[in-house]
Amino acid sequence: MDTRIHTLPSSAPGSVSTWTSLHYGTPGRGPKAVIQCALHADEIPGLLVGVHLRAHLARLEAAGELIGEVVLVPAANVLGGAQALLGSQIGRFDLGTGLNFNRGYRYLTPGLLEALKGRLGEDSVRNTALIRKACRELLHAWQPSTAADALKRELQLLAVDADTVLDLHCDSQALMHLYAPTPWADTGVALGRCLDARVVLLARESGDDPFDEAVSRHWWELREALGDQHPIELGCFSTTVELRGEADVTHELAERDALGLLRFLEQRGHLHPSAATPATAGTGVDCVALPLEGVDPLTAPVGGVVVFTRELGEAVEAGAVVAEVIDPLAGEVTPVATRVDGVFFARSKTRWALRGERIGKVAGAKAFRTGKLLSL
Ligand SMILES: [Zn+2]
Repeated sequence: MDTRIHTLPSSAPGSVSTWTSLHYGTPGRGPKAVIQCALHADEIPGLLVGVHLRAHLARLEAAGELIGEVVLVPAANVLGGAQALLGSQIGRFDLGTGLNFNRGYRYLTPGLLEALKGRLGEDSVRNTALIRKACRELLHAWQPSTAADALKRELQLLAVDADTVLDLHCDSQALMHLYAPTPWADTGVALGRCLDARVVLLARESGDDPFDEAVSRHWWELREALGDQHPIELGCFSTTVELRGEADVTHELAERDALGLLRFLEQRGHLHPSAATPATAGTGVDCVALPLEGVDPLTAPVGGVVVFTRELGEAVEAGAVVAEVIDPLAGEVTPVATRVDGVFFARSKTRWALRGERIGKVAGAKAFRTGKLLSL
């Protein structure tokens, strides 16, 4: 294992931040996988999964079971990890700019179409190598001004030439679920089954350039733009894995999730089949792929005390009341109903909401939303 320490540009004289990537196996000998933990630094389950993965990856490397390279970023966001405000950790947004650490990555397709003009040929493998090289060149040309943007550029550079990218997050309180690209629906469901996830939420473009899309989206867009002239592979499966809720941090869950991720890497050809990662008992509920455009974000119509009337995992019908928001001064109860038939899969952990605040999510099968599909 090769440990690499990356130094971010100093935000102020005397301040230095470094982040670490752990490189297992042999680069270039086979496919590359990148597993990234807690890009939102206050989403802790991924950090513990990373701890469990380290032990497994070291064992697999020693046994010669890694075909190519597996890169583990055990704590992706050292900047967010050091931020706190009034006693609470703030790991989702850069406090200096207010920007989300998982938005604003480089959208590469326009630059690639320009850079690749006249350079692609008839060999899809050679084309893949050319596309990856052009991606790296475009990212090297990005001159970030803030330390947060510098971190984004480095993380995107590390993952942009990978075949598989697993970005580990969590929701507030939630079932295990994933976000995956629509062109990779089957692979998303395969990963969902490895992790006993309930739903995979599919989108081609979620809005605001989150990390997972920034390392994969250009592949299907290039294929659509140039595929009738040149063979173009879908070079990267990337996904955001939502490891349940913020407080779901136990060794038992982390070990189970680490093994699920390794089982998926085995299916994707990153491990020799002899690695034989054991399957978990499963939940008995199959994973389904649903459009991200079909997710109903439940918002509090007024401020007040939030009381959920339905449990996570329940199937709900359009019009069903999922929560109440109660004004403790007036004693008024305002029901919050879902607009879709679907699965109640995520909700806020806090029981006080301000007017307009998002308090839950129901995943339905029918796409009905457009525009920006992710929360802030
Ligand atoms: Zn997150």
